[in-house]
Amino acid sequence: MQRYFLEDTQFDDNYVIIAGDDAKHIQKVMRMNEGDNVICCNQSGDCFLSAIEEMTLTEVRASIQQIEERSSEMPVHVTIACGLTKADKLEWVIQKGTEMGAFSYIPFEADRSVVKLDPKKAVKKQDRWNKIAKEAAEQSHRQRIPFVYKPESFKQLTSRIEAFDHVLVAYEEEARNDEKSRLVDTLAKVEEKDTILLIVGPEGGFSDREIEGFIQAGAHPCALGPRILRAETAPLYALSAISYHIELLR
Ligand code: SAH
Repeated sequence: MQRYFLEDTQFDDNYVIIAGDDAKHIQKVMRMNEGDNVICCNQSGDCFLSAIEEMTLTEVRASIQQIEERSSEMPVHVTIACGLTKADKLEWVIQKGTEMGAFSYIPFEADRSVVKLDPKKAVKKQDRWNKIAKEAAEQSHRQRIPFVYKPESFKQLTSRIEAFDHVLVAYEEEARNDEKSRLVDTLAKVEEKDTILLIVGPEGGFSDREIEGFIQAGAHPCALGPRILRAETAPLYALSAISYHIELLR
């Protein structure tokens, strides 16, 4: 069933008002009518089955029927920090990572990032990334939209490390050294509601300075299997391994 992520202010005790692009989507794309059902999610991740009662050109009013009991959210919060990459690779990571349950994304300017983001363009980019996350969250029946931060510097990213319960840096040299246990050992220790930060490099990989800085700040270098993955594949490998370990095995 189609779902919409709304602001808390759009909810009343019994009703929800869907406006703007979402109202247009219900009418023009979904071609829904009075009596049809949609799912409306608030900003705390509560989603409600709602029945459309009234429609105008700009607004749809729906009555709240019942709360969605089942959760599709990961029991742990996984934040992916991605070195800025060329073209639309980050968009792809955000779309697919959202389907796979990521909690948030922090793009960062890595030493070997070919793209340097102009601060003026950063806000526009951030809006676009957040829109992609919203659409992917709707499509994959999530209860929450992952948040995409504005691109950060190496320093800003390292200063965030201590706030997480577990921090891994996916390091290509560890793959070359056949490192096998870091990801497994970390996931064995993870408990429900823990926060995990996974740092992934850009196409050119990490510089020594970055790896040393991340380790000093408390991150642990790990391999994601024996093959060298593209920058956009690495977060998806990690997210599927985390889902397998935490959502399927336990
Ligand atoms: N050009 C580099 C590879 C960069 S891969 C080289 O040839 O060495 C881009 C990023 O993906 C890396 O910085 C790392 O964060 C991640 N990555 C790719 N494969 C990986 C693996 N097997 N283990 C851990 N991280 C990996």
